[in-house]
Amino acid sequence: MQSNESMSISQIIERDHKVYLNAFGQRTPLCIERGEGCCLYDSEGHAYLDLIGGIAVNVLGHGHPGLTEAICRQAAQLIHCSNYYYQMPQLRLAERLSDYAKPLFSGQGGLVFFGNSGAEANEAAIKLARAYFHKQGQPRPRIVSARQSFHGRTLATAAVTGQPRYSDPFAPLPSGIVHVPFNDIAALQAAVDTTTCAVVLELIQGESGVHPATAAYAQLAEAVCRETGAQLIIDEIQTGMGRTGAFFASERYQLTPDIVTLAKGLGGGVPIGAVIASPDSAAGFTPGDHGSTFGGNPLACAAANAVLDAYEAEQLVARAGQLGQAVTTRLQQLAQKQPLIQEIRGAGLMIGIEFSAEIAPALRMNLISHGYLTGAVGTSTLRLLPPLTISREELDRFVDQLAASLEGISTGEENK
Ligand SMILES: *Cc1c(COP(=O)(O)O)cnc(C)c1O
Repeated sequence: MQSNESMSISQIIERDHKVYLNAFGQRTPLCIERGEGCCLYDSEGHAYLDLIGGIAVNVLGHGHPGLTEAICRQAAQLIHCSNYYYQMPQLRLAERLSDYAKPLFSGQGGLVFFGNSGAEANEAAIKLARAYFHKQGQPRPRIVSARQSFHGRTLATAAVTGQPRYSDPFAPLPSGIVHVPFNDIAALQAAVDTTTCAVVLELIQGESGVHPATAAYAQLAEAVCRETGAQLIIDEIQTGMGRTGAFFASERYQLTPDIVTLAKGLGGGVPIGAVIASPDSAAGFTPGDHGSTFGGNPLACAAANAVLDAYEAEQLVARAGQLGQAVTTRLQQLAQKQPLIQEIRGAGLMIGIEFSAEIAPALRMNLISHGYLTGAVGTSTLRLLPPLTISREELDRFVDQLAASLEGISTGEENK
């Protein structure tokens, strides 16, 4: 075996292609070796400013001392012991998330269950809502979600996801799922009735390109759930963990959901997901209904506790709001001079830049060549989900480069 120091990226791609199942196609041709702060370094020693943060996961950037230290300490003490037993990292994390969720549940603490990913958190939320009505002897068959949503890749969450490409190849799917156009109040109102078990929504659709729900739509979703008794499940896997300038985006919308889900940033890079339910909704699960071997293990919970410690010490939620405001203002100023930018969407450090031409994939590669990592959604949207620890100076440097790259594209320079 060759060590990767002596290997070119094309050799790495060739080896990967032989052994890694072709789920990702041709990836970005970079082999990432290490990270520090908001920078990632590849196997050839190039530095990149990370504006996508492992898709909203690396909320503390890379190599954060508090997180690294907590993981190392917990790894030496206890990595796993099964959910047969109690352990303090899990209890502490559940208490803290229960507290963070108080504004969502009219001041009551939520009840928490841990899994290992976003999809598992949503899967548990869906099971909880179904079980809630089953336990009352009145099963409700229907789940309503929005088109262009993304809720995960298990069979149930892929079926709830409102994009056929994620579910079609895997039919037959769990049944009872109805998709309605996003931000269409009349369609949502018409779709929800007393046979509806749950309405599942993202408040800002992330994977489909950073599309915020209107306030009226979110409020109607809550109102129809109250009217019909359906459970309101807000998927905060991408919008949660302070990303939008509030710990939960539901707070920005002044919503009172029944169940929320978290994952992505929760462990700062260590896999963990959480379902947080109101005390009433939590009654859906009774012992034996649900479980997880790895879910809520001490290592993942210690990591998440360290993430929350950093949030509290570094005021990262407020910071996400302020930095998001600052960078969005700069992007809007750029949009006024640069006709290639059509719209800036999002909240806090969850930002979508919509272009008037299909330039997003080429622009993303151009930005990589200048040392900036972003995400392209489809052909005309660039997505930013940087660590919440990113500095104003780093964001400003990115906007300067974006301006230069767009200038290059509009004058045909990028073809040289
Ligand atoms: C990423 C994401 C998921 C799925 O999370 P995984 O950890 O990839 O399973 C679900 N919902 C939303 C809104 C997401 O952004």
